[in-house]
Amino acid sequence: MIDEKLQPIFDEVLRRNAGESEFLQAVQEVLESLGAVVAKHPEYAHNALIERICEPERQIIFRVPWVDDRGEVQINRGFRVQFNSALGPYKGGIRFHPSVNVGIIKFLGFEQIFKNALTGLPIGGGKGGSDFNPRGRSDGEVMRFCQSFMTELYRHIGEYTDVPAGDIGVGSREIGYLFGQYKRLTNRYEAGVLTGKGLVYGGSRARTEATGYGTAYFVQEMLATRAADFDGKRVVVSGSGNVAIYTIEKVTEFGGKVVACSDSAGYVVDDEGIDLDLVKQIKEVRRGRISEYAKLKGSTASYVEGGSIWEVPCDVALPSATQNELTGKDARVLIEHGVLAVGEGANMPCTPEAVKLFQEAGVLFGPGKAANAGGVATSALEMQQNASRDSWTFEQTEERLAAIMRDIHRRCAETADEYGKPGDYVLGANVAGFVRVAEAMEALGVV
Ligand code: GLU
Repeated sequence: MIDEKLQPIFDEVLRRNAGESEFLQAVQEVLESLGAVVAKHPEYAHNALIERICEPERQIIFRVPWVDDRGEVQINRGFRVQFNSALGPYKGGIRFHPSVNVGIIKFLGFEQIFKNALTGLPIGGGKGGSDFNPRGRSDGEVMRFCQSFMTELYRHIGEYTDVPAGDIGVGSREIGYLFGQYKRLTNRYEAGVLTGKGLVYGGSRARTEATGYGTAYFVQEMLATRAADFDGKRVVVSGSGNVAIYTIEKVTEFGGKVVACSDSAGYVVDDEGIDLDLVKQIKEVRRGRISEYAKLKGSTASYVEGGSIWEVPCDVALPSATQNELTGKDARVLIEHGVLAVGEGANMPCTPEAVKLFQEAGVLFGPGKAANAGGVATSALEMQQNASRDSWTFEQTEERLAAIMRDIHRRCAETADEYGKPGDYVLGANVAGFVRVAEAMEALGVV
């Protein structure tokens, strides 16, 4: 429920952004958390501060023409939404996926404002992407697409302005092509303009692992509030991309047994525990499908085409694929199977109904803004290293990441306590993130 004082703000957001369902869903969730804050701190509602937070500072939409391997001209649409720069340069990933549209980029950019604020680091919020589908495209096609995308984007970004990174469909290969084209167009070796770079040209150690590792650290902290840990727990991680792979790695290190993972076509169950080297081989090297896992692994593994991975009984569920992948129906099944904790590795993977069901059932629930903030936090550490022309060890970087995740957990938990909702990490994350941005916006005046 949105507080009656904030309802007119949401009505106006609805009117101006009609049809952008994911964006409206993300705004609604944050506004539902803010009623108690404006009651306590009316100054945060002055000068249309909340209205301003809901309106991107700048939105760029552009044509991306490129030539495929057959010599045909292809056209895609590129986006960059520069949502809020009160705390630092716009920061957030780029997503290449056929489902990308302005509403999806706005939802991701909006979430990013609060996530980035929660890290405690000096980064604003933004997001970008394209409806380009990398599946089945050759390296040459991906390179030409990235070069065309950057040929427009380069004029809008910079180490003090906006610092993109990866997201779904954008990994180290794409970041390399994007950085190469930026360098060529500007004639500047400006390492801090992109993060998620390869180690040989200014990347940070542990950035590849950071989102998944961070999610595991965050969920470990949540479990500790109930005197529990990952040891011996059955865990299901949806997805098999960057976030899922490194979540599985860290959860396994913590003693958990990950028994299932998935891709958009289906899921695999392996009661021996997922063989991560095999998943990495299939997904990172061959860029193949998860169905190959069952064929290669043999009798302990099975592949289920379609269907819901959430039917696999588990103690901890870590949705790490994409938005709205875990519905109310899935939540009921998980609760029936006795799930103890849910941590969002992806951005907004649980529908509002699913979140409500988990919270009502007393399941520990870590929202993406908090649980998956380790990726962007380590991006900010990459920016620090670039600014000081330094390069840290893996251990040093992972230690910083772990400390940041513990801090985020503490900030969310303390904020939830302060507002009389102990254990409500959704409220804690939204409010703690908002307060930091609101204080900066207030100080900077009406801009
Ligand atoms: N796309 C990731 C996220 O949602 C990482 C963003 C970044 O590193 O800038 O947080």
